[in-house]
Amino acid sequence: MTTIAPENTTIRTGDDYLRSRWDDVVAAKMDVVQRLIYRSNLLGADARITNTGGGNTSSKIDAINPVTGERTRVLWVKGSGGDLRTATKANFASLYLDQVLALRALYEKNDVRGPKTPAEDAMVGMYLHTTFDRNPTAASIDTPLHAFIPFAHVDHMHPVAVIALATAKDGPALTHEVYGDDVIWTDWQRPGFDLGLELERVCREHPTAKGAIMGQHGLINWANDDRECYELTLELIRRAQDFLDAHTHEEDFGGARVSSLPEDERKRVLVELLPWLRGQVSSEVRQIATVEMRDEVLEFVNSHDAPRLADLGTSCPDHFLRTKIKPLYASWNPEGADVVTLKGELAAGLAQYRIDYAEYYNQCKHDDSPALRVSSPSVILVPGVGMIAWGKSKSESRVTAEFYNAAIGVMRCAERVSRYIALDRQEAFDIEYWLLEEAKLRRMPAEKSLDRQIVVVVGAGSGIGRGLIARLVENGASVVAVDRDVASAKSAADEIGKKVGMGIGVAGTGISGAGQTIGLGADMTDRASIRRAFDDVILAYGGVDQVVVTAGYYPNPDENGDVADKEWATAFAINVTGPYVVADEAYRVWKEQDLDAGLVITTSVNAVVPKAGSFAYDTSKAAANHLVRELAVAYAPMVRVNGVAPATVLEGSSMFPRERVLASLSRYEIAHETSEDTGALRDKLATFYAGRTLTRQPVTLDSQIRAITAFLDGGFSRTTGQIVNVDGGQAAAFLR
Ligand SMILES: [Zn+2]
Repeated sequence: MTTIAPENTTIRTGDDYLRSRWDDVVAAKMDVVQRLIYRSNLLGADARITNTGGGNTSSKIDAINPVTGERTRVLWVKGSGGDLRTATKANFASLYLDQVLALRALYEKNDVRGPKTPAEDAMVGMYLHTTFDRNPTAASIDTPLHAFIPFAHVDHMHPVAVIALATAKDGPALTHEVYGDDVIWTDWQRPGFDLGLELERVCREHPTAKGAIMGQHGLINWANDDRECYELTLELIRRAQDFLDAHTHEEDFGGARVSSLPEDERKRVLVELLPWLRGQVSSEVRQIATVEMRDEVLEFVNSHDAPRLADLGTSCPDHFLRTKIKPLYASWNPEGADVVTLKGELAAGLAQYRIDYAEYYNQCKHDDSPALRVSSPSVILVPGVGMIAWGKSKSESRVTAEFYNAAIGVMRCAERVSRYIALDRQEAFDIEYWLLEEAKLRRMPAEKSLDRQIVVVVGAGSGIGRGLIARLVENGASVVAVDRDVASAKSAADEIGKKVGMGIGVAGTGISGAGQTIGLGADMTDRASIRRAFDDVILAYGGVDQVVVTAGYYPNPDENGDVADKEWATAFAINVTGPYVVADEAYRVWKEQDLDAGLVITTSVNAVVPKAGSFAYDTSKAAANHLVRELAVAYAPMVRVNGVAPATVLEGSSMFPRERVLASLSRYEIAHETSEDTGALRDKLATFYAGRTLTRQPVTLDSQIRAITAFLDGGFSRTTGQIVNVDGGQAAAFLR
């Protein structure tokens, strides 16, 4: 499969602006369906053409009916869900075109013209009956838009430049001015069967038209050749952008009302604000943040017109579903950067937002509307600082930020040439609470056990910590890998990012924490270093839910079996003081956030089993056990604090270099050759250790990871102040 890299998303014009990336050599090797996928990937790879998950494409292709053996026409059209950039054949529905068109009789027989009738919804269920070749991909509500246009290839996109025309008060006149008779204006209509018939009418009445602007929504265009259709899409967007560029003002949005804070100040404000704000917007369900501070966003939030435009909300249904009816705009003067005042404004704003949202629901709801959903804003705008978007995961909040960014672009351009108008409230409600949309939400897979959780793992560069972060990400958590060795922290995060196919973010860049995992360097023996790490976590995700400390230090005795004072001090610094400092810094964030939280510290069975030769380690771990109990008392009721006490885990541990393994093998008189590789030597030692346990099982990384995960995902939701041994069973370490 060809992978297409995303294009630069900043608006730029010039000779290569939206140039065609079609390669005939590549396309010539493909069948017609593959060419449709190729075209879709090209279109989806450029944010100026369409937004993530937005838009759809189709081709009408000759095929053989497997039942009759006769030639038939099949509509291949992108189905529900998925993204054009990464779309594969599995994202496309295939339907007998004549049967889809025949549904018209059924639709009209019911005399159900008009988009609000239930018959419109019922038509969606009918597409299943028209499936070609038992293709399991569900057809989307946009299917009739493609079916009723009598051309072989159709592209429907959500380009910012075109939506600007579609949301301008003078949209119809501007469309004519930009496109003449090439593109025809159609008024806003919810996507569905009726809109398909409307587009058929446009094609019939304007036989030379190449496309249509769907009011408040986007662009749809067509051709009988696939490359021509793709290049037409680019051309139509370019014509809109050229027109808008010709109307550039000195100042958009009525000019600046306030100035941005310097970047360092913005970050300081966010670090102070976000945990509290996350607590506020998570009163119904926990949310993960994405902060946007790019120039275009700051120009908007700082402007005179921002309060008016923000109040109007977004327009394109795709944008709107993510950004909700409107963002929350904080009326705050950033001068002096007084965060206490900002919190006051936001607290009042949030209360009003919830009242307004309930009012919108009550005024617009129908008898059969789904129940009121989460009433917190998903976008918050702070003058001088930027935009904060919220979602159930990092990728969700990132997409929400992307959509409001697009909405800012739309408003900017629409206001340059006319007045921006938003979607009508009732229409907006009918989309947000559309029964089909509700059905789609219900079909979504259940949330994972750690969705909505932000987990910081200290000591994630190796051993238990490194194994743990992979498990946490699989279970949905946003994970921060912290290690004293910054390179190993980053490589641990990168490794997982690659495996799960998610972007890796580095905190402190323009868009902070772009991915589900980030790697940070921090030294547990240095409070300032730990605080900086938590600041970065806050900027990346908005707060912290749980912290796990797996970092540990085993002081090696010298050749005489003595532990130097320095080694003793280091063992206590890393095994006791370090976890305490991490906990203390996390608690500062937790108090602001005011949500339930969890802390897990890895200690050791050695904490209760004294052994000759490891007393510095054992004593420090005994202190760590008691630290767990002290913190459980100190942080109750908000934070549950527990410990997991492993016996020696050899697998993946940085505490077991070859020399220590060899020394242990000799000490226990276990037969071995010094020429054997480290892995084989470790296995011998692990087998020996297993033989000394009640279960006779080796203590694996997986056994530790499972125990820690049980503390994080609610498996031990009524337990605090406890140490759980994961040691294969050692009577000497029993609770007493
Ligand atoms: Zn659309």
